[in-house]
Amino acid sequence: MIGPIIFILILAFIVYLAIAVRKKDGNETYSNKVEYGDSFNNETDETPKKKIKLPYRVSDSVLTDAEKSFYHALKLFLKDRAVVCPKIGLKDLFFISKEAGNDYMKYFGKIAQKHVDFLLCDPLTMKPLCAIELDDFSHTSKKSFERDQFIGKLYKDAGLELIRVSSKSGYTANEIEMALMGVFDKRETVEPDKVDTKEHDQTPICPKCNIPMVMRTASKGKYEGKVFWGCPNFPKCRETVSSGT
Ligand SMILES: [Zn+2]
Repeated sequence: MIGPIIFILILAFIVYLAIAVRKKDGNETYSNKVEYGDSFNNETDETPKKKIKLPYRVSDSVLTDAEKSFYHALKLFLKDRAVVCPKIGLKDLFFISKEAGNDYMKYFGKIAQKHVDFLLCDPLTMKPLCAIELDDFSHTSKKSFERDQFIGKLYKDAGLELIRVSSKSGYTANEIEMALMGVFDKRETVEPDKVDTKEHDQTPICPKCNIPMVMRTASKGKYEGKVFWGCPNFPKCRETVSSGT
């Protein structure tokens, strides 16, 4: 008769201990949060113990040695022809067309954590001209192969040139020139088959986003009051089509 009672008592004690340890852990996490919060929000706090810095420090360089070497060679070659933006998040470079509908978050998730090593932009308009990725040995695994496949299609479908350069410790002006061949010689041409002229009396499709355009009226400028077709993705997309009136 005594045996089972002792067993139950021991069991109860173990359960009590487990609950006590859990409570202690929870309190510690909470008190840490309060300390960081206090030192951040309340600078006049007199308790020196509470003046804990947030655990962020500034990196000594935002680029690796290989990236720095490429960056300087690139700047020498470009002069004022383009602005070099290092480490641009793909979510800032691309927008997701309303064509995606309910799949917006799915496509956003695919680019949210990714970046490109260098983006060249027009110095005046900051319009992206081309993107450059430095490929190192990490690009040989199966996982990075799939990533590269997706990235390649993404740039191709979005219509931005992606130039891949193999990563090394130094670059000559000639190598940079070869890599960027053609980027600055291109002329903006409107391909005649891009705009669907057969259905000019119906709603036109945005040539960039592949979705029906919407009727807008210019509110300012020399075309004030004029009616035109605009893209629903405005201001990310500034494609327009004359309404023909
Ligand atoms: Zn558009």
